[in-house]
Amino acid sequence: MNLHDYTEAALSFIEAWEGEWGSYPAHSSRNVDTSRLEAAWTEYTERLRGNYPFFHPRYAGQMLKPPHPVAIAGYLAAMQINPNNHALDGGPPTAAMEKEVVRQMADMFHLPEETLGHLTGGGTVANLEALWVARHLHPEKSVAVSEEAHYTHERAADLLKLELVKIPADRTGRMDPDALELELKKGSVGTVVLTAGTTGRGTVDPIDDVLRLRERYGFRIHVDAAYGGFFALLAWDDSPRVPASDLRGIARCDSVVVDPHKHGLQPYGCGCVLFRDPEVGTFYQHESPYTYFTSDELHLGEISLECSRPGAAAGALWLTLRVLPLEPDDGLGPILAAGLRAADRWARQIQRTETIQLHVKPALDILTFYPRPGHYTVENVNRVSQCVFEAAMNDSTDPVYVSILRAKADELCRLDPELEQDAPRARILRSVLMKPTHENYVDRLHDRLVEIVERVISCGRI
Ligand SMILES: *Cc1c(COP(=O)(O)O)cnc(C)c1O
Repeated sequence: MNLHDYTEAALSFIEAWEGEWGSYPAHSSRNVDTSRLEAAWTEYTERLRGNYPFFHPRYAGQMLKPPHPVAIAGYLAAMQINPNNHALDGGPPTAAMEKEVVRQMADMFHLPEETLGHLTGGGTVANLEALWVARHLHPEKSVAVSEEAHYTHERAADLLKLELVKIPADRTGRMDPDALELELKKGSVGTVVLTAGTTGRGTVDPIDDVLRLRERYGFRIHVDAAYGGFFALLAWDDSPRVPASDLRGIARCDSVVVDPHKHGLQPYGCGCVLFRDPEVGTFYQHESPYTYFTSDELHLGEISLECSRPGAAAGALWLTLRVLPLEPDDGLGPILAAGLRAADRWARQIQRTETIQLHVKPALDILTFYPRPGHYTVENVNRVSQCVFEAAMNDSTDPVYVSILRAKADELCRLDPELEQDAPRARILRSVLMKPTHENYVDRLHDRLVEIVERVISCGRI
């Protein structure tokens, strides 16, 4: 797809549409000083050059990539109108599109027809809403989250004055269901938050086990699938293409959050929360004297904590899903599958390499690994990891971007008995392979990192 053609199309569509409304005297505020604009633009673009190359497969550091060109064109067209999906008449077409994309995402999880949901500014607000609803249902009870969960849950619990209990994770980073059961036996847990795709290692909590526990103990399950939710697309085959087949269990959970701005090809400002039981919509009721009602329908402003929300975000997602549908073998599915194959391929390369150790087998497209210095202790792993991270990023001719993950050293050592524990905390390397272009680039990433690891180990005689 040629983005130039479609940005052109987005601009000329708006020009033509505006032209249909009749002419009116222009206002001088639209004019700007040309030389000032030129200078500002030059400075602006120069400063933007200071970014890391998120678009390039050599960047595999954090959960960052540019939106799909289709999303950019869709956003640009709607943004010029600037509809506000706060209320139905803030932008009827994009409000209708929001309902359609929410329906598609509920279908992706195999959630029931009546599922209620809406887009949000991101995963943080979406999770906050899910816990806010959970508090309405269990005002006196606590929220249980894995110690590997995103820190947003702790903040949300604090805001909502909910008690939060942390459940230990197993060595691979999944919530330990036995530890959860011990807590459930106390009878004080109202909601369990599970993560599908943890930020650190990309692991998926044992959703099926926790669903079984729910039958015995009765509690609410909220799934934070901000990162990993879209991989549910690949979980429904007879032989699922995603190692984490637990993702299917989301269909039976009470609420779920997924971020189209992570794996849904969208620019930032697009999260989504879904509730299995539409009755929870009643908690949002408000009587605002100035909210405009043109419809008897429950409009999206009535089921959202946020007020103003970009209609352009809904429009961009709608257009994207028209072109790249939520299907396992068409549209988004193959894009996600390429990242899974990249992680799997790189993991197997690492297993064949003396100087790098795989931490855990990737459940999604996030890979964790660390150098194996000759004197194999946690302290040395930490030193080499930090040096490799910096050297790889700062190389002036062929940089490679990975990230650092902090982990508990005893967990690392239990998985890797040869590693001597001489420090409590470990610093290991982490890669997020969220671009399909990574599939044909991981060999280069691997070779480059091996080169740097070996150089650091031999230079430092570690
Ligand atoms: C990204 C993420 C969040 C936070 O979402 P934002 O969109 O950054 O606000 C929460 N939980 C998980 C698992 C995430 O990956």
